[in-house]
Parts: sequence; structure tokens; C-alpha cells
Amino acid sequence: MKIICIGRNYIDHAKELNNPVPASPVFFCKPDTALLQKNQPFFYPDFSKNIHYETEIVVKICRVGKNIEEKFAHRYYEEIGMGIDFTARDLQDAAKAKGLPWEIAKAFDNSAPIGLFIDKNTLADVNAIPFHMELNGQTVQQGNSADMIFSIDRIIAYVSQFFTLKIGDLIFTGTPAGVGPVAVGDNIKAYLNNQLMLDFDIK
Ligand code: ZN
Repeated sequence: MKIICIGRNYIDHAKELNNPVPASPVFFCKPDTALLQKNQPFFYPDFSKNIHYETEIVVKICRVGKNIEEKFAHRYYEEIGMGIDFTARDLQDAAKAKGLPWEIAKAFDNSAPIGLFIDKNTLADVNAIPFHMELNGQTVQQGNSADMIFSIDRIIAYVSQFFTLKIGDLIFTGTPAGVGPVAVGDNIKAYLNNQLMLDFDIK
């Protein structure tokens, strides 16, 4: 399976990192070794001094598709969850400054914690899902899929022009404002619709 992550999909987050608002989705990939599951702890890696959380709605692909039309994209996913797109911001800033790829900053081992997935049909509207993340019990990020620049269906249509989507692939749909650093000893809890989906510690 593969993990596809959308960058700059909320205007308020693009602004906080001084990035322009994109005309088409910006995306990058993480390998399957980036997955961290079952609320296992995240061990702070030696190669970074500035690991940031980015809380994101995650879509799980349920059928194979290529060149999917936006109007049919809803047929390609049934489950939605929450994930953290861990980012070594110091390495990312250095890569950006040199115009280099982001893999070492974004795709390292355990950089993609994911939690529970729920049936999208239990949600009133996938284009209006509220979510939030607590760092040590304090809400630090709040978002709503209604505020995405590119909707889930638009992302699937766009990405599938370039990559065949396969069963089990995950799409991280971008983060709202409020990203920040984590430290050893922190706890992260991510909620979708006020339902706890992900709960793990930084060690
Ligand atoms: Zn992200």
C-alpha cells in the first residue's frame, strides 16, 4: 500500500507557513514503513530537533482506480479516520531552501500514526466533518473538512491521474492551522466528530 499526503489544503495553514495557496493539490508520498498503528508510542528520532504534528483526516481507498472522475470518486472510499503527518520541520525547511525533495522530512519510519477508521455513512456529510487534536489535554488544532481547498473527491480525481489507487491506500488530506512541535513525554489525542480516534505518547 501507499500513503499519499496532501500539502497546503487549508488556507489558514498555508498562511502560517508562508506558503502560497495552490491552484492544484500539492502532494507527496510516504512508504508503508511510515505507518504507526494501534496507539503505539512514537519514538522521537535522533535526526531532528523540531518534529511537528499535523493533524489530518485520512481516507482509506476501497477499490482500484485510475483517472477517476470527481463525480465517481465517492465510490472509492468507505472509511475515514484520523492521522498525524509527522514532519521534521528543520529538515523540511533545509530541503525547501535548496529545492530538494521532502522525503527525509516527511516519510521517515513511524511518521504516519493512524487510528480507528469509521464508516463514512455514519457521518452526516463528508464535506463537513469537524475534527480536533489535543496535545497533553489542550486543544491545539481544530478543523473541518468544509474548509479544505480541495475536497476529498477532488483530491481522489487529481491524484488518480498520476497514481493508480489501490485497496488499502491511505490519503492524508492536509492539516489546518495550529501545527507545532512535540517533545518526549507528550500525549496526542485526535478526535473526529468528538469521537476519540487516536491516542498515543511521544517517547
Ligand atoms: Zn500534512
